[in-house]
Amino acid sequence: MIYNNRQQTIAHKIETKAQLSKWKDWRWQLRHSIKTLEKFEELLGVKFEDEEREKLEETFEKFPLSITPYYLSLINKQDFKNDPVFKQSFGGIEELTTLKSELEDPLSEDSDSPVEGITHRYPDRVLFHVSNICSMYCRHCTRKRKVGDIDYVPSKEQLQKGLDYIANTPHVRDVLLSGGDPFMLPDDKIDWLLSEITKIPHVEIVRIGTRMPVVLPYRITDNLVSILKKYQPLWINTHFNHPKEITASSKEALAKLADGGFPLGNQSVLLADVNDCPRIMKSLLHKLVENRVRPYYLYQCDLSEGLSHFRTPIGKGIEIMESLIGHTSGFARPTYVVDAPGGGGKIPVMPNYIISWSTNKVVLRNYEGVITTYKEPDSYEAKLCDRDCENCNLDLKVEEGVEEDIIGIEKLLSDTDDAISLIPEDNERMTRRDEDAG
Ligand SMILES: *Cc1c(COP(=O)(O)O)cnc(C)c1O
Ligand code: SF4
Repeated sequence: MIYNNRQQTIAHKIETKAQLSKWKDWRWQLRHSIKTLEKFEELLGVKFEDEEREKLEETFEKFPLSITPYYLSLINKQDFKNDPVFKQSFGGIEELTTLKSELEDPLSEDSDSPVEGITHRYPDRVLFHVSNICSMYCRHCTRKRKVGDIDYVPSKEQLQKGLDYIANTPHVRDVLLSGGDPFMLPDDKIDWLLSEITKIPHVEIVRIGTRMPVVLPYRITDNLVSILKKYQPLWINTHFNHPKEITASSKEALAKLADGGFPLGNQSVLLADVNDCPRIMKSLLHKLVENRVRPYYLYQCDLSEGLSHFRTPIGKGIEIMESLIGHTSGFARPTYVVDAPGGGGKIPVMPNYIISWSTNKVVLRNYEGVITTYKEPDSYEAKLCDRDCENCNLDLKVEEGVEEDIIGIEKLLSDTDDAISLIPEDNERMTRRDEDAG
């Protein structure tokens, strides 16, 4: 049921006799976002101790508070301090703890930014920050220091710089709109932005990352969907972390998007005391696929400032993946990734399934612990690749493909490049060699 008693109580505290139509108006929700401790106490009907209040005020000074009335209505008042929605939205004094290993920009998004608003890390795709604001501020946000810092929506002129960069960089085929939350932009600006991006001939797909279906599902209006539909292929990724976030309202939003024809994905963050449990995770994943959302990534929590209380060991993530692989539908399981501090990008991490190897056999294990062998072919003839696709007898004949330089491990595996190892730039042993030679 969309307007339940808890929601009605909150709505009426905000505005006497507010009807369902107001509650479901995303602008009304934003206008009445909870930004102070007092408002939070009043609307949820709880009270903090004086001592705690002071520390909390200090926390919100550093990392601002903002919760939509809808998301607040999901908190279980009776046991609110243990509630996963409370933990993600309200936070606590733990955020004031900063560890030495924590960084303001752990993913070096600023260093990999050729122009304002663009992070260009991978060869063929860019991240385009099109809004600095979100409908609410997640306590576990990687961009915590930035989101809400200066609340602004970039002007067309500012966005134009990003558009120009994409237009002038022909190997960008995938543009990922992120933020903040792109759906904080008004409909006409989204329309304009998507029309400008999709005009660029080498852009093959656009992706939008948004948390609206989770924290403000009413933002997914029929009008928004009809605008988005003009710009297929458009992929949409959202950010559910806990099964309790899948409500009647969020289901409705997801259905509108899925019916609109957009492939839906979900990125979760592994958070201590929120979802660091194989059973909770499995329940979330099952609910997602039931609502036509394909789990995409499960992120290891980044090394951002003030997130130490949310962090789990990587081992927890591997344990969760162990409990999923084989145990549930393949398409219900995300890829677990560690976003490399310093900007190395996402590194997938999994339990090991290869136990041993010889020239003709591979020993593998399955999810049940059964150990099995795969006999390698006796007569596999290695095909040497000279990257001359024109004259290759494999009938691949890559059309119009812009051949990228081979990099990384792919380079070590190739037949054309004679690199035999990859060595870090400041490797001491190599420096010594150079010095000896010189
Ligand atoms: C995550 C990310 C992307 C997209 O990566 P995919 O693995 O293709 O989803 C692109 N750029 C940056 C900077 C990212 O962090
Ligand atoms: S929606 Fe995303 S960018 Fe916005 S506050 Fe939450 S985690 Fe950060």
